[in-house]
Amino acid sequence: MNVLDATATSLRDAIASGHLSAEDATRAALDRIASVNGTLNAFNLVAADRALDRAKQIDERRAAGAALGPLAGVPIALKDNLDVRGMKTTASSRILKDFIPPYDATVVQRLEAAGAIIVGKTNCDEFAMGSSNENSAFGPVKNPWALDRIPGGSSGGSAAAVAARCVPLALGSDTGGSIRQPAACCGIVGVKPSYGRVSRYGLLAFASSLDQIGPFARTVADAALALNVIAGVDPCDATTTSEPVPDFTAALTGDVKQIRVGVPRAFVTEGVEDQVRGAYEAALDTLRRAGATLVDIELPHAKYAVPVYYLVCTAEASSNLARYDGVKYGYRAANDSLKEMYSRTRDEGFGPEVKRRIMLGTYVLSAGYYDAFYLKALQVRTLLRRDYQQAFERVDVVAMPTMPTPPFKLGEKSSDPLQMYLGDIFTVSANLAGLPGISVPCGFSSDGLPIGLQLMGRMFDEATMLRVADAYERASDWHAHTPSI
Ligand code: GLN
Repeated sequence: MNVLDATATSLRDAIASGHLSAEDATRAALDRIASVNGTLNAFNLVAADRALDRAKQIDERRAAGAALGPLAGVPIALKDNLDVRGMKTTASSRILKDFIPPYDATVVQRLEAAGAIIVGKTNCDEFAMGSSNENSAFGPVKNPWALDRIPGGSSGGSAAAVAARCVPLALGSDTGGSIRQPAACCGIVGVKPSYGRVSRYGLLAFASSLDQIGPFARTVADAALALNVIAGVDPCDATTTSEPVPDFTAALTGDVKQIRVGVPRAFVTEGVEDQVRGAYEAALDTLRRAGATLVDIELPHAKYAVPVYYLVCTAEASSNLARYDGVKYGYRAANDSLKEMYSRTRDEGFGPEVKRRIMLGTYVLSAGYYDAFYLKALQVRTLLRRDYQQAFERVDVVAMPTMPTPPFKLGEKSSDPLQMYLGDIFTVSANLAGLPGISVPCGFSSDGLPIGLQLMGRMFDEATMLRVADAYERASDWHAHTPSI
């Protein structure tokens, strides 16, 4: 079998049945990373020895006839804002460039208990703040489809690693689109679970009421497999839900005959490039031909989602990032006085986008502006949530483009943060409302750049959302295209 092209599901099966060793699967991933990472800059760290040790353990377990987990021997990459004990976790920031966490994130524990092999940590926007991966202290990630283009952000390294066949699976985090956008830009599948579905313990916090961890894969079935492993209540994260976790793999029946797909036509207008709109309309048609019913819906407050998101996320970020003060852990600037040390540490440690957000967030939370900005944003967030609640009384999923444009050129928008923020229009509302969302490949622009279709589901109903996404994948072949890198 061609290990690099194989899905996680087929790798797992080949390893479990003895047709492939976990060590060979891991070596193939490590070799591939070594050959493309100089070009892509997708990995901040490669943990080759640790990965090979773990792979050998899986092979020994198999030889001894011990039970193997659902991801036994499958190589996986993790966004560099997820803690792995003893492995550097930087959030692509200078302030954490030598930070080694003393514990594992819950998702890491669960992945390793399921037999997955962590091969390394992926590049991302600093503290997951961005849509293009250009805000990394370690340089941008390149898009495997076109090296002069962004891979999407903030989890761009994870998406590029999967698209470039380094690994069949990766994890990212999504606060306002950071899994779905890079998935769209890199022509792969990315899932943001419902808020509370996956534990955030061990994820470096950006905006705690919005952050969720989720998988990247090349097929919906692989994403479902990874979600099965990482989902579920966790005593270390009080916001996780005790809602039962269904078998997401079993939900992929291919049947969408009873499914009503909500189409927010009035919302999918301004700023959407013609090629994206064309791919979106064609995808809706594919779903209709597969048996689903298209239903027009209104989302009257969705147009406010970007300003609401940037008020809420900056407010929460300003508070979450107060902990990086040079005292407890992370980078510390040389200094004479304590006050000077605080400010120099933060000045030298944080990049420009992070500083911009800390300042904005501190401003909107300050006395006199709190009511006018932060409180108002929370009120509109409630209205937006109600829009979706009402829509989901009539439909089972909502479909819209993942991004208004195909991936743009590196550097094209970096001097204009506002333009960059507007590109988040279709992804931020899932986070504000807590809903699950997925991006699946739905076409290419005339110059060969991937375009993504986003489906959103009811709260905690990832199963239906994944079923529709999988049915779409079966009825199309966009996911089967590969970049030539
Ligand atoms: N692009 C959004 C932002 O810059 C979302 C980032 C994310 O989801 N982590 O905040």
